[in-house]
Amino acid sequence: MLEFSATSFKVISIGINANLPSFERQLKTETHLYLIKGAMWATVISLFMLLAILLNIYLQNSDISVFYEAIQMVSPLVMITFSGALAAYFVKRENIAIWGLYSYLFLLEIVWVYLVWRLFHFSSDKLPSYAALAGVESIIDILVLTIAIAFFPNRNLMLMGVLPLMVFSCYERVLVVPDQYLFPLTKFFCFLAIIVSGQKVLSSWFNKAILRNVEKQYLLAQFRRLALVDSLTDISNRRHFDEILLQEIRASERTGHPLGLVLIDVDYFKRLNDSAGHQSGDECLVEIAKILTVTANRPRDLAARYGGEEFVLLLPETDIAGCIEIAEALKRKLAVAKLPHPDSDIGSLVTISQGVTLWKEGMEAQELLECADSLLYQAKSSGRDRFIAA
Ligand code: GH3
Ligand code: MG
Ligand code: MG
Repeated sequence: MLEFSATSFKVISIGINANLPSFERQLKTETHLYLIKGAMWATVISLFMLLAILLNIYLQNSDISVFYEAIQMVSPLVMITFSGALAAYFVKRENIAIWGLYSYLFLLEIVWVYLVWRLFHFSSDKLPSYAALAGVESIIDILVLTIAIAFFPNRNLMLMGVLPLMVFSCYERVLVVPDQYLFPLTKFFCFLAIIVSGQKVLSSWFNKAILRNVEKQYLLAQFRRLALVDSLTDISNRRHFDEILLQEIRASERTGHPLGLVLIDVDYFKRLNDSAGHQSGDECLVEIAKILTVTANRPRDLAARYGGEEFVLLLPETDIAGCIEIAEALKRKLAVAKLPHPDSDIGSLVTISQGVTLWKEGMEAQELLECADSLLYQAKSSGRDRFIAA
């Protein structure tokens, strides 16, 4: 029995929210897709066998009326397979419901049992019934194998497909050769055991393959998270910021939309560490990161930890007034958060200084950051706990 503890993997927002499918959901989807393919495959084999049967009858009988009789015999099967093909053509593959598959296989079964029954009586007119039975039995064996392979991920569907044919084959054999009833019964149970145990083995491999695939997706998402998210504050790291900054500059070049950038530095952070302890310093950074994320919360906004106690906000499609609003909101929310600072020249609470600027036509990423940095420096040198926008 396969188990998978994490039923749903959620990857922290890193510009995009990636909700990975759970093992159960993925298994359901893959099983369904396999069954739909299986139904198509069983249809193709059905049609191929029909052709073979018709060809045999045509080659072995010079009388054309016999051939017409054969055509009439196979017509229900042709109708069912063509209706199945038509339905599959009009309904999107993945939208074919499981009940649709059950119904189709059920109808296919009925017409195949009808056809082998007719074939048996049709051949018994011309051949000894034992020989007619042998021909029909080989057709049934091929069909049983086809259906077992085509529908193995769903045992009920598979059994519904194979049992009527197997029962029919066994029943006809007992009718034709009643004194040898043990042989068909043995064959029936051996076949059933082989099919059921094969189904178990195959579906456990199938499940394992899907489990590995889900694990792989989960690991890739984890790697991506490790590469792009800052472990302390859980917001984007500098690498991710640099990547997105380039993309947003390209986007602004194309669209002409403004692109705002706010560089943020905690005031007297070294003193906070020294007076309140490194742990309090860390907690302060986590709190500031939370404030940044809730303040710049439009879909394309990006808050990142730029370095030790420096943060950056990237604000696409935001003009300078919008950036100033964000800078003011940050200052306000930080004051409301009342993070204590025992050794600040400004007061008893943690404060920040900010450099607020816009990307201008032709500017490279580095120039934009240097511009924000020099504004931040001005904010620091003019007394801290403020922002300078330009
Ligand atoms: P200013 O007001 O001029 O910005 O002074 P400051 O003390 O904030 O600036 P400075 O650059 O001198 O100090 C930054 C400090 O941030 C130094 C470093 O030890 C600390 N720091 C960097 N990363 C971390 C971290 O992850 N956790 C903690 N607790 N401290 C950190
Ligand atoms: Mg600094
Ligand atoms: Mg600082």
